[in-house]
Amino acid sequence: MNNKADVVIVGGGIIGCATAYYLAKKNISVIVLEGSDYIGNGGSSRNGGGVRQSGRDPRELPVVMWGIKNLWPTLSEELGVDVEYTQNGNLRLGKTEKHLQILTELTNKAKACGLDVKMIDSNEVKKINPHLSEEVIGASWCPTDGHANTLTATLGYYKKARELGVRFITGEKVIKLKTIKGKLRQVITENNVYEGDKVLVASGFESREITKTVGIDVPIHKLKMECLVTEIQPPMFKQMLGTAEADFYGHQTKHGSFVFGGSTGFEGFEVDGDTLISNSIGASCTCRGIMKYFPELSNAKIVRTWTGWIDECADKIPVMSKVDEVEGLYLACGFTGHGFGIAPGAAYNLAELIADGKTTVDLSEFRYDRFKSKI
Ligand SMILES: Cc1cc2nc3c(=O)[nH]c(=O)nc-3n(C[C@H](O)[C@H](O)[C@H](O)COP(=O)(O)OP(=O)(O)OC[C@H]3O[C@@H](n4cnc5c(N)ncnc54)[C@H](O)[C@@H]3O)c2cc1C
Repeated sequence: MNNKADVVIVGGGIIGCATAYYLAKKNISVIVLEGSDYIGNGGSSRNGGGVRQSGRDPRELPVVMWGIKNLWPTLSEELGVDVEYTQNGNLRLGKTEKHLQILTELTNKAKACGLDVKMIDSNEVKKINPHLSEEVIGASWCPTDGHANTLTATLGYYKKARELGVRFITGEKVIKLKTIKGKLRQVITENNVYEGDKVLVASGFESREITKTVGIDVPIHKLKMECLVTEIQPPMFKQMLGTAEADFYGHQTKHGSFVFGGSTGFEGFEVDGDTLISNSIGASCTCRGIMKYFPELSNAKIVRTWTGWIDECADKIPVMSKVDEVEGLYLACGFTGHGFGIAPGAAYNLAELIADGKTTVDLSEFRYDRFKSKI
């Protein structure tokens, strides 16, 4: 077996799969190594499907806005699968004056970056979504936000990348990286050694342990997050919903089920330890949120719950960067619970960074060395 490629990517999530696809489009040979037995087994198959710009750190806006303008609208066509992308806006809801203050600040910052987003009062909220409870007193409204299907988007990139010749190897957990003559060359798994001129580490929170093997430490830790899906409901609304404090979000899918996620307040305490099993605390917290915002859904049955890790970066935006100290090493990790919506734009620009050394959208805000002491 030929274990060599121009680029070896560690991690078969949406970032790894999509970057592999955009690299392959440039005729670059790629091997993707996925530690688990399944492509997309990390956050990429477990997320809430939000494709939003509003509510983001302004440093992320140029990449996500570019992706939403240039890639998401034609992604189903490009990948040959229905990624169920809809662009019907995002309501970020507020129930208290403090919420409205948070939303107004986020909205003003996003507007300054050119995003079409505004604050609206409870009457306007009701016009957009008449199903919301009376407790909602205002919201931010971004008409170009939306949602998509996380599974078909991730596997769509995987399928299309394979068609272009990318090799995906599952059950191939990377244990370390190795430099030869000062340059990163080898990617070592339990049973094999792979070689690439360049290596992209896109392994979620596990990226930290992998890059430590060549002396690079990225401040990321893992947090458990939960989602649930309801039984099929009559069509109610098409917007993506979120809240001022990002503790509750959701949307209705194409086939009628609602996907909701939310904070339990137990994040970081790892109820049930390291196991990726949802528990009664998570679902009941999310349900309390659902009933407060959508009393009409009080009797909807939950058909499935699941959990996933998010890779929370110290300053809550990702690292997408070349590493100067280790020639040949690139990083794409720390997406902090909002890496799905940004993935196409991020991956397109990462492929440019790796192949050409320059990008359509400036990625300098995402450099790995932003955490270094400036003194
Ligand atoms: C419950 C939940 C809800 C979310 N909701 C949203 C949302 O609505 N909108 C949004 O934009 N984002 C959301 N996210 C975040 C989003 O899912 C992630 O940011 C995104 O999927 C990150 O993609 P990734 O490819 O970087 O990581 P992952 O999908 O985690 O992929 C990393 C891959 O690397 C593999 N790997 C790890 N270690 C190794 C190793 N040693 N060797 C080889 N492979 C390895 C893993 O098995 C995994 O498949 C949510 C996340 C969760 C958990």
